[in-house]
Amino acid sequence: MIDTYGRNINYLRVSVTKRCNLNCTYCGADCHGKDYELTAEQIEKIVKVFADFGIDKVRLTGGEPLLRPDICHIAEKISSIKGIRKLALTTNGIRLKEFALPLKKAGITAVNISLDTTDKEQFKKITGTDALEKVFDGIDQCEKAGISPIRLNAVLIRGQNDEQAESLINIAKTRKIDVRFIELMPFSDAGENEKLVVKGEELLKRFPFLKPVKAQGSSFEKSVARYYESDSFKGRIGLITPVSDKFCSECNRIRLLSDGKVKPCLGNEETFDLLEVIDNEALLRERIRQAILSKPMEHKFSCGYGNNHGLNKIGG
Ligand code: SAM
Repeated sequence: MIDTYGRNINYLRVSVTKRCNLNCTYCGADCHGKDYELTAEQIEKIVKVFADFGIDKVRLTGGEPLLRPDICHIAEKISSIKGIRKLALTTNGIRLKEFALPLKKAGITAVNISLDTTDKEQFKKITGTDALEKVFDGIDQCEKAGISPIRLNAVLIRGQNDEQAESLINIAKTRKIDVRFIELMPFSDAGENEKLVVKGEELLKRFPFLKPVKAQGSSFEKSVARYYESDSFKGRIGLITPVSDKFCSECNRIRLLSDGKVKPCLGNEETFDLLEVIDNEALLRERIRQAILSKPMEHKFSCGYGNNHGLNKIGG
C-alpha cells in the first residue's frame, strides 16, 4: 500500500514478545513484566490483513523472539499466508542452536543475529550474561541448516566496544556472513550522548579497503543498509546510519508490537490498538489502513539525544 508520502509499505516487523533473556546496557527496552502477548492465531489474522494491503516481507523480532515456545508455529502460520514471500528473524542467537533447523523448516529464510563483540568478558559486560559461545554455536547451526542470508548486527559505542569493529569485520572475511554496524540510537541513558555514536563515515575512514557494492539489492530486497565489500572477503559489510543519515523517505516498514499495537514509525510515539477490534474484520482492516496512512514523514531521533526516548517508551 502506498502511504501519504508515496512510500510503498511492504515490510512488517512483528514483535512476538517484549521479554528478553539479555539485558544490554544501551537497549533501554522494558523487557520484563507480563504484558499481554498476541497468540499465534491473532498474529496470523493480523498479518493476513497486512498481506491484503501489500505486505510481502515479514520479520519476527522482540524482545527475544526465541523465548516464545510457539515461535515455529508462528513462523509456519505466517509463511503459509498468501502474498508473504519472505519471512526473516532477528534474534540475539542464544537459543538458535536448538531452533535454527526447525525454524528453517517452518519457513524462515533469513536470520539477523545481534552481536556487539567477539570478546567473552565484554559480551558479559554488555549483555549481563556469559553466553558468547552459545551465540557462535547458533551462527554455526544456521549455516548448517542452510539459512541464507545470515547477518550479524553490531552496535558500537565509543570507548566501550568500538575497538571490536575489526574483529567483527574479520568474521565477514572468512565466512559468507554479512556484518552490519548500526549507529547507536537515543533509546536509553547509555544512548543519550551523541558523542558515543560511532558513525558510518568514521568506519569507512578506518577501513579504507571497503568499496561500495555496485548492486545494492533489488527493490524487493530494499534495505536500510548500505553495503561494502573487499576482494578478499566472503561476506559484505553493511552500514545502517539512522543517526547521521535519515533514510525515512525510503522507509518501507511498519511494526506490530506484541501487545497488538501497530507502530507506524520507530522514532515516533503514535500507536494503533488492534486488539480492541480483532474480532471485527471490517474494523480491523480499517484500523490497519489508518495506521499505514498515519506513518509520519520522518523519525525524531535527532531530537532524542538529551531527551531520553527509552526504547520502552517508543517501542521495540
Ligand atoms: N532480541 C533480538 C536481538 O537481540 O536481535 C531482537 C530485539 S533487539 C532490541 C533488536 C536490535 O536492536 C539489536 O540488534 C540491538 O542491538 C538493536 N538496538 C537496541 N538498542 C539500540 C540502540 N539504542 N541503538 C541502536 N540499535 C539498538
